[in-house]
Amino acid sequence: MKKTQSNRSNNMRAIRGKDTKMEIKVRRALWQKGYRFRKNDRTLYGSPDISIKKYKLVVFLDSCFWHGCPVHFKLPKINSEFWDQKIRRNIERDAEVTRHYVEEGWTILRFWEHEIKEDFDHVIYVISHYVERQRSLSNL
Ligand SMILES: [Zn+2]
Repeated sequence: MKKTQSNRSNNMRAIRGKDTKMEIKVRRALWQKGYRFRKNDRTLYGSPDISIKKYKLVVFLDSCFWHGCPVHFKLPKINSEFWDQKIRRNIERDAEVTRHYVEEGWTILRFWEHEIKEDFDHVIYVISHYVERQRSLSNL
């Protein structure tokens, strides 16, 4: 019962686009490294989970359910038609967002929830790598 309730509140948070545990954890680790960034900047397309405008860097942390992870997404048995369409739209939108940033010459990083859970340090390492890279490019 308790678990169901907490799952539901996680889902509600995801629906509202508010902070999930994994987002909080990633942001905290980056903040501790001294990186300063915006979260869910609405002036940027798709309001990225993490963004540093001056480095043209955006990071998306994709929930395995909401973004249709090819490994973990399972179509719910109830209302499956609804969920199928909804998640398909999300996947299309993610592709559009990615295309937008690529075309505009931004660096876009996407991580699956399962990558963050399975190898958190690697995710932080990759983001840090790109922050440092953009930082050194901007100093040229
Ligand atoms: Zn996954």
